[in-house]
Amino acid sequence: MSAQIGVTGLAVMGANLARNLARNGYTVAVHNRSVEKTDALLSAHGDEGDFIRTESLEELVQNLEKPRRVLIMVKAGAPVDAVIDQLVPLLEEDDIVIDAGNSHFEDTRRREAALTEKGLHFVGVGVSGGEEGALLGPSIMPGGSKQSYESLGPMLEKISAKYEGDPCCAWIGTDGAGHFVKMVHNGIEYADMQVIGEAYDLLRSVAGLSPAEQSEIFAQWNTTELASYLIEITSEVLAQVDAETGKPLVDVVVDSAGQKGTGRWTVISGLDLGSPVSAIAESVFARALSSQRDQRAEAQNVFAEAAGTGGSEVPEGFVEDVRQALFASKLVSYAQGLDMLTAAADQYGWDLKLDEIASLWRAGCIIRADLLDDIMRAYQGGDAPKNLLFAPAFARAMAGAVPALRRVVAVAAETGVPVPVFSSSLAYFDALRRGRLPAALTQGLRDYFGAHTYGRIDKPGTFHTQWSGDRSEVAAVDTH
Ligand code: NAP
Repeated sequence: MSAQIGVTGLAVMGANLARNLARNGYTVAVHNRSVEKTDALLSAHGDEGDFIRTESLEELVQNLEKPRRVLIMVKAGAPVDAVIDQLVPLLEEDDIVIDAGNSHFEDTRRREAALTEKGLHFVGVGVSGGEEGALLGPSIMPGGSKQSYESLGPMLEKISAKYEGDPCCAWIGTDGAGHFVKMVHNGIEYADMQVIGEAYDLLRSVAGLSPAEQSEIFAQWNTTELASYLIEITSEVLAQVDAETGKPLVDVVVDSAGQKGTGRWTVISGLDLGSPVSAIAESVFARALSSQRDQRAEAQNVFAEAAGTGGSEVPEGFVEDVRQALFASKLVSYAQGLDMLTAAADQYGWDLKLDEIASLWRAGCIIRADLLDDIMRAYQGGDAPKNLLFAPAFARAMAGAVPALRRVVAVAAETGVPVPVFSSSLAYFDALRRGRLPAALTQGLRDYFGAHTYGRIDKPGTFHTQWSGDRSEVAAVDTH
């Protein structure tokens, strides 16, 4: 018996993907650097399907049908290169090496180029959905060559999450496109979680609503256009009571948010591409600031008197305002993430289909939300909007929700509640819709101190004012 796919790296994600493949009828050869994980998987779940136990990569490769498919699910970074280096000498032309971990897309581009030279296919696959998704059906974002997708796609589609019967898996684009899209998914996830946190903080600090009361509010919000996995589990986390102290769990958890790096990567890529992913950036910075616990403790003493002044009365309609502010900010973070995908497609030569990408995020992944079905529809058909917010349905939604967002940001400023993503989303929206920006003054300053030149709105060309001379304007050669 030979296996249709081999999986190496059997920590939680690799083991669950291997089980998912086996449960879907594929024979799966399994391998882990230390054999204990292989045996643990097989003794607990070996009866779920056809597994072939192997102890070395040589043995793994020998047990695969050709062209071979080897899925690597090890720690991202150097371990992936180490495994590839050991695998490549064992493989033959047209074999497919799949990296389904959270690799950086530039690493994937480099690895794909190197393996293509050797006649192999290298497929970087973004997988979202955590442990449970890997086991029961994740959202899958494969890159690599189109040819490799013909061999691999049907398997990945079979094990993926389904939204109304449609697989949440489709070929994204060449080389690192799959990992790039997964990275942006994670960036949006950071912003999505931060806006939920900001809403919770406002409802707690301004409206005085307990976690238990908020649990019910979030459950109700989950029946509105906010309906999503993250809102659903927010309701559950807020309802949880700590068995030891009897307090709400959220009150005994250390308020320092961890991160594994994909949000940071999204922001760095946004900066590289000149793509204004400000809401996503603020959500990454919010986690960083939350982790500066020593400084925060000192600031509480240093600025004890600096709390906001407002807030003695809860503004009328505040809970509904916060809900709408959350929705508007969420739309902005999706718009920014999708805009960044457009910029990346230009930069890296990917033909990214935003409707298809939105469709893959409708089930299986962490940001799954009813909204994604509407986003998918906004990009379907010939006339895709330049920015998600310009799609008629979303333009109407923003027009409806932005007044609430303004009121909420104002209340937050007055009461001293930090709402970095709410306020940066509003700033992004206002900058986007503004006819004139103060960037004109920035250009004037740059020309003054650095002769960086400027364009004029009334004629083509590049100009410089002779600031240290007679301040007359001259035509200039644009060097920047
Ligand atoms: P992990 O903790 O990231 O990695 C542990 C696995 O990597 C073990 O199988 C380990 O083997 C292997 N490994 C580490 N260094 C190695 C090396 N030099 N050579 C060979 N094997 C090596 O595992 P994970 O949490 O299952 O995640 C796997 C990948 O999926 C990561 O890229 C992660 O970012 C991504 N991911 C995780 C989640 C999640 O929810 N956890 C979701 C999506 C994507 P030993 O057992 O021998 O140490």
